Amino acid sequence: MKFTDEIRRRRTFGIISHPDAGKTTLTEKLLLFGGAIQEAGAVKSNKIKKGATSDFMEIERQRGISVATSVLAFDYKNIKINILDTPGHKDFAEDTFRTLTAVDSVIVVIDVAKGVEEQTEKLVSVCRMRNIPMIVFINKLDREGKDAFELLDEIEQKLGLTVTPLSFPIGMGYDFKGIYNIWERNINLFSGDSRKNIEETIKISDLSSQDLNSIIGDKAADTLREELELTDIYPEFDQEKYQNGSLQPVFFGSALNNFGVRELLDCFVTIAPPPRPKESDTRIVSPEEKDFTGFVFKIHANMDPKHRDRLAFIKIVSGIFERNVPYLHTRHNKKLKFSSPNAFFAEKKEIVDISYPGDIVGLHDTGNFKIGDTLTQGEILQYKGIPSFSPEHFRYINNADPMKSKQLAKGIDQLMDEGVAQLFTLELNGRKVIGTVGALQYEVIQYRLEHEYGAKCTYENLNVHKACWVSPKDSENDEFKDFKRVKSKFLAKDKQGQLVFFADSSFSLQMTQQKYPSIQFHFTSEF
Ligand code: GDP
Repeated sequence: MKFTDEIRRRRTFGIISHPDAGKTTLTEKLLLFGGAIQEAGAVKSNKIKKGATSDFMEIERQRGISVATSVLAFDYKNIKINILDTPGHKDFAEDTFRTLTAVDSVIVVIDVAKGVEEQTEKLVSVCRMRNIPMIVFINKLDREGKDAFELLDEIEQKLGLTVTPLSFPIGMGYDFKGIYNIWERNINLFSGDSRKNIEETIKISDLSSQDLNSIIGDKAADTLREELELTDIYPEFDQEKYQNGSLQPVFFGSALNNFGVRELLDCFVTIAPPPRPKESDTRIVSPEEKDFTGFVFKIHANMDPKHRDRLAFIKIVSGIFERNVPYLHTRHNKKLKFSSPNAFFAEKKEIVDISYPGDIVGLHDTGNFKIGDTLTQGEILQYKGIPSFSPEHFRYINNADPMKSKQLAKGIDQLMDEGVAQLFTLELNGRKVIGTVGALQYEVIQYRLEHEYGAKCTYENLNVHKACWVSPKDSENDEFKDFKRVKSKFLAKDKQGQLVFFADSSFSLQMTQQKYPSIQFHFTSEF
C-alpha cells in the first residue's frame, strides 16, 4: 500500500466521558463490532473504584490495566482504528488532556439520564479550544432518561456545541424499540436479546413503510415520524464543519445492549479525519512529509518490578517510523535508536518494524524522555500543545529516609517527567513543593517512590490556593522588582526554571493582579 493510503486509512481517536457514562462499555463494543475481540468482558475498566483511593493494590491494578489499554488498535473495513485510552477519574484529568494532544478526533459519551456532567464539560472545553472533531454518543437508552430534544439542547447550552443528530431513538427505557439511522436513512429495530447476538436486528429502509407500524405499533411509528420532522431544525450534516470542529453529530444507543454502536462505528470510519497536520515551534508539519517526526504524550513506568524501565508513547505525526533507525531527540540534541518499538493491538502489544502517521509506538526508555519530547529525522523542532495546568493541591515533600536521598531525587524527577505531578522549588528557602490537580496523586507518588525507587517521603500541608506562572512585560522594570521583593515568600520555580506565584486565596490573587498590571499571570505553563 502507498504511504499516503496508509495515512488516509488511519483514525486515531479518544473516547471521553464523565465516569460511569459508559466509556469502557462502548470501547469494548467498538472492538466487538470491529471483530477485534470475540466476546464482551475483554476490556478491563481502568477506573479507580470508589472508596479505593487509599488501596495501593488498586492503584497498581489500575496502572497495570492502563498499560494494557493505553492504545487499542484494530482494522475495520480496511480502516486502521487506534483508540487512545483516557482515564475518567478527575484526579487524572491531566493525563486525559495530554492524550487529547495525540488524537485526531474524539467520541463523547453522555448518559441519557444524567445528561452533561462536570467532567464532560471540562474535557469538551479542551477539545473545543483545539477544534478537535467530536461525535457525541448518548448512551443507556434502555433506561429512562431525558427527552432526546431536551438533551440535544443541553449539549448545545452546556458544552457550547452545535449539534446535528445522525440517529434518533425510537422510545426509551422499557419502550426502547430501536434507532432510526438518519445518516443511512434506515431503521434498526431491537429484537429480543441483542446483548448476546449483535446481528439480531431488523432493517427497514423506508420511513413511511406500513411494516414499521406493524412492528412497533401505530403510536410509536407516528411519534417517530413526527419527531424526525422536528429534527429538521438542526443544521444538515457537513463533513467539513464536523472536521474543523464547528458541527457535532450526535448518535443514540445503548452500548451495553450493543445498540446504536454499529451505526456509530460505520459513520465514524466514513467521516472521522485521518491524521491531521500538527503545529511545531517552527512550522506546521503535514503527515505526508517523508521525514519522520513524532512526540511523547504519555510515559508509563514498567509494571515489572525487575525491569523498572519505562514505556514512552509516541504519536507519529509525519513520515515512517522504523525500528533500529537513529532519530534525533530534539531536546537533548542526541540521536537515539530503538530496537524493540511496541505497537498496540486490541489485546496485546508486539514489536513492529515500521509505523505510520496516526500510529502510536511504545518505546522503552531508561530516562531520556519526558512528556512533550519530540523525535525527528534530524530537523530541530519541538511540538507544541502539551501545557501543564495550574495545580490546585500543594504539599511540601520531605525525605523520610536520609540514606535514600539520591533515590528520592531520582524518583521525583522521573515521576514529574511522566507528568504525575509538578515540582516547585521555593525561592526563599529551596524547599520542594509538589503540586497536583487531584489529591489522589500524593498517594500514587508516595507508593511509587517506595516501590519503584526504594525511597520514602512524607508530606506537609501548604496553604496555597493556586499556582500561576508569571511573566513580566519587562523583567527590569520597578514594578516587577517590587513584586519579587514583596512576594518573595510566595515565589517558586518550576522544573523548567519558570517563575511561579503561589496565591494563598483567590482574593489575594486578584489583589496581586490589580497591584501589578504589567505582570501577566498564566494558568497553564504554555504561553
Ligand atoms: P465508564 O466509567 O464511562 O467507563 O463506564 P462503564 O462502561 O464502566 O459503565 C458504567 C456502568 O454503566 C456499568 O455498570 C455498565 O454496565 C453500565 N452501562 C454501560 N452502558 C450501558 C447501557 O447502555 N445501558 C445500561 N443500562 N447500562 C450501561
